[in-house]
Amino acid sequence: MNKIVIVGGVAGGMSAATRLRRLDAHAEIVVLEKSGHVSYANCGLPYYIGGVIEDEESLLLQTPKSLHERFRLDVRVRSEVVEIKRSEKIVVVKDLEKNEIYSLPYDKLILSTGAKPVIPPIPGINQAYTLRTIEDVEAIVSAVATAPKNAVIIGGGFIGLEIGENLVHRGINTSIIEASTQVLAPLDPEMASLVAKELQNHGVQLFLESTVTKVTSTSVMTNNNSEIPADLVILAIGVRPDVSLAQQAGLNIGSKGGIVVNHVNITNDPDIYAIGDAAEKIDELDGSATLVPLANIANRHGRVVADHIAGKEVRAVKTIATAIVKVFDLTVATTGWNEKRLKSAGIEYRTIHTHPNSHAGYYPNAQQMTIKLLFAPKTGEIFGAQAVGVDGVDKRIDVIATAIRGNISAPELADLELAYAPPFGSAKDPINMLGYIADNVITGLVHTARWDEIEKLVDAGYKLVDVRSYSEFAQGSIPGATNIPVDELRDRLSELHSKKVMVTCQVGQRGHTATMLLNSLGFEAVNLDGGYLLWSRSPANSYIERKEEVHV
Ligand SMILES: Cc1cc2nc3c(=O)[nH]c(=O)nc-3n(C[C@H](O)[C@H](O)[C@H](O)COP(=O)(O)OP(=O)(O)OC[C@H]3O[C@@H](n4cnc5c(N)ncnc54)[C@H](O)[C@@H]3O)c2cc1C
Repeated sequence: MNKIVIVGGVAGGMSAATRLRRLDAHAEIVVLEKSGHVSYANCGLPYYIGGVIEDEESLLLQTPKSLHERFRLDVRVRSEVVEIKRSEKIVVVKDLEKNEIYSLPYDKLILSTGAKPVIPPIPGINQAYTLRTIEDVEAIVSAVATAPKNAVIIGGGFIGLEIGENLVHRGINTSIIEASTQVLAPLDPEMASLVAKELQNHGVQLFLESTVTKVTSTSVMTNNNSEIPADLVILAIGVRPDVSLAQQAGLNIGSKGGIVVNHVNITNDPDIYAIGDAAEKIDELDGSATLVPLANIANRHGRVVADHIAGKEVRAVKTIATAIVKVFDLTVATTGWNEKRLKSAGIEYRTIHTHPNSHAGYYPNAQQMTIKLLFAPKTGEIFGAQAVGVDGVDKRIDVIATAIRGNISAPELADLELAYAPPFGSAKDPINMLGYIADNVITGLVHTARWDEIEKLVDAGYKLVDVRSYSEFAQGSIPGATNIPVDELRDRLSELHSKKVMVTCQVGQRGHTATMLLNSLGFEAVNLDGGYLLWSRSPANSYIERKEEVHV
């Protein structure tokens, strides 16, 4: 009989265990979990803090008892694996209830030990809460029950922002301190600016380019000499693969700090697999090792490993790190690589931004979103995408993630036949529009300028012409722009005084029409990608005072 031991009983571990059971009714499957719970919804924890999820029980998807009843799994909570003796193929387990140590043999061992919050060596940091387990959330909920007035979250990543929103729901004055120049590192700065604004609009005070130097019982000090009042401090600056057990067992740890595995998640020991946040992944785009501490890939790898152990043929599953987060009224989603990463890898890329409606504009409640697509300038290979908006963001990012997986190029997005009726989309869906624009850019039909290139092009002799209506222009414009509405352009060419023209409109669409017209009349015109809207929200028009508190 096969004896399979799994260390870690949540996303990856439990997916592996239940799949294995479905494939093999006879295998002996033991799941060892050091916390008091298995199969809990860690992704739901922030919402329990805010009371959006009211009942703790609903976070507990399974119990050792239910898993035994349905799957005959031997699930042992409060059971920490403290050592792996590879030569003897046994794990040493500490029963944390009874304070007893025992050994357990395995034929195959699966490590799904997850990740640990990064805890920097800052004086007083031990007073800060971290969020990873049910026990962690219970501690935070108890602290929230004491009615703190002011909370500080250290870290403006996905989890920090989710917790921030939930503390605001609880009526707590909330500040977020972030060391870098923006929140949500997977976004590029002009997209992250939209999120920063949403946080401000909901009363969150954001301290960018600030690092915490000290935590006291009443406040948090930063390197910019700010003292921020805090009765509750949450630390969410990221996670690191929990590899202590693997390291002790002599398993290889990679350059990213995760357990090194092959394409089917086998470590350097053929009888030990590693999955989830603890293991390094293979990046879909360049095949490099990467870390993606997300639930989808942990679950998927759990299943792959179970299939492999059961003797099934498996496909290697690489990652494109598709992620999504709710920030108050916004949905923010990303897939693939961002500009920062492409730039640092020296990969040539193009970007386009659009601001489409979530569905047909004439049907009630259409909401404008911003989508950014990154692709190869010659082949159109999609490198990544980011989207921010109130509605319809999830569907667009998921389509692009699917396109990346299916090797559909950026211009080919134009060919996708997506479901359409006015309440749901547009006959030319935002995804199709990205394809049209990418095609125009790749074939050289139009040249676009980026929001951060305006100054450079003006210096190179380009005249900046805003083709929006007079009333739109009056509400705000890029400094130095001349306003000639698109419908008047043909009659006012003599006012341009330059063959080189940079056209802008609100979102880029009228600008495209004007650019095409000017080019056909012998001008050298470029269209400002994303238009005035993108520029106005980007760091180029920095409404965020860096190194300063952002006031509401
Ligand atoms: C607050 C929060 C919100 C999140 N939100 C999202 C989201 O919205 N979307 C998303 O995709 N991902 C989200 N994630 C990430 C996602 O939960 C993880 O990527 C996923 O759970 C990883 O699965 P895993 O099996 O690798 O590790 P985990 O699910 O963390 O499980 C690891 C388990 O191993 C146990 N363990 C560790 N060492 C030992 C040992 N020596 N002996 C016994 N047991 C051990 C730990 O106690 C832990 O319970 C969130 C995570 C958190 C914490």
